[in-house]
Amino acid sequence: MLKITEDFLINNYKISDRALEIYRQALSDIEKDLQLYDDVREFNQLKVLKAFQEERISDSHFTNTTGYGLDDIGRDALDRVYARIFKTEAALVRHNFVSGTHAIGAAIIGNVRPKDKILCVSGKPYDTLLGVLGLSEKKNPGSLDEYDIKTDIIDLDHEGHFKFEEIRNALRNEPSYKLIHIQRSTGYASRKSFLVSQIEEVIKVIREVRKDILIFVDNCYGEFIETIEPSEVGADLMAGSLMKNIGGGVAPGGGYIVGKAEYVKQAENRFTVPGVGGEYGATYGLMRSLFQGLFFAPHVSIEAVKTAVFTARVMEIAGFKVFPAAKDKRTDIIQAIEFNDPKKLVNFCSGIQAGSPIDSFAVCEPWAMPGYDCDIVMAAGAFISGSTIELSADGPIRPPYIAYMQGGLNFEHGKIGVLIGLSRTLEE
Ligand SMILES: *Cc1c(COP(=O)(O)O)cnc(C)c1O
Repeated sequence: MLKITEDFLINNYKISDRALEIYRQALSDIEKDLQLYDDVREFNQLKVLKAFQEERISDSHFTNTTGYGLDDIGRDALDRVYARIFKTEAALVRHNFVSGTHAIGAAIIGNVRPKDKILCVSGKPYDTLLGVLGLSEKKNPGSLDEYDIKTDIIDLDHEGHFKFEEIRNALRNEPSYKLIHIQRSTGYASRKSFLVSQIEEVIKVIREVRKDILIFVDNCYGEFIETIEPSEVGADLMAGSLMKNIGGGVAPGGGYIVGKAEYVKQAENRFTVPGVGGEYGATYGLMRSLFQGLFFAPHVSIEAVKTAVFTARVMEIAGFKVFPAAKDKRTDIIQAIEFNDPKKLVNFCSGIQAGSPIDSFAVCEPWAMPGYDCDIVMAAGAFISGSTIELSADGPIRPPYIAYMQGGLNFEHGKIGVLIGLSRTLEE
């Protein structure tokens, strides 16, 4: 770091000497590891580029459509570009998925019928999905359990691995399982995320027993962190959010579903209505942002991973428990830090907030959020409201007081945001 930069940080952000010392140490510790991610990024950028070229994307795909949006060529072409990238038969990429939960919900709800059962094999699903399935404490009218579609959960073992034997037995004993749910990223749970190779392993086990079952993967936060995606190792259907990796920080919102054509079709009919499916839906001039965001996504996702690895290392040096560890192989952009103290958790988040380009002046306070069962503290100073590919940190206010930090549109900003967070955490 230039002396002039250090002075700037000390004078403007009151960074302590101790925090700066940790910062320097962490950067030198992780230098080699970061290079590996550059290699992943290079491959994924090529993959995206080639998909654009093969679909002959041109300026005409960025035009504005209104009304019914029939024959929106940009929208249809983006679906095909996604399908190429994920190596699937079909894709449904829409700005009017209100979030990842909506896309995941449409994918799941569209593909089950009364009396079918769902089996979650990576433990309890992400908080907002509980409301969809009917597993949350507060019932939501219209959740799947009301339609006599029940969900069973197989927890992970103590080391956070799939319980293969239990999964086999469950599938053998219960023929009405129609859909398997696997979540790649940790969510608000203290476990590691699943590498694509681990997802491949569990898919093989499932297929030994049930060739025909629909295997769904919640791919949120995972896109472009490895050189392959779960759809390349046997997942039938996947969904995720454009406010995370794959929107590249440019897409103003939305979600995607990719997978086998028959399953994507069912999801389309849930997303709109049967008979209308994905053929209607104007894009109001948003297509350029969705394309451009996708083009930036391999780059931006790795900037976020670098920020995560850096965070892991600084917090390790500062004496906190982190997962994944700085040295661990990553499959998503999430970094969890265990504070064991509500005040430290809030201080860290407030530092991230203070380092944001947007709303840097806002005070971070724990708050009740729809879809979550306890108060949440959130640091989010983003260009796209709530976007978590932008540097953000949040944590449920419950022991062991873990902050989940993610994003960073560029590593320069990511580092500085985390440095301010670190400095505030070290203060008493
Ligand atoms: C973020 C996330 C979701 C939900 O996405 P939203 O865009 O917040 O609705 C679902 N699953 C996982 C694992 C996530 O990280």
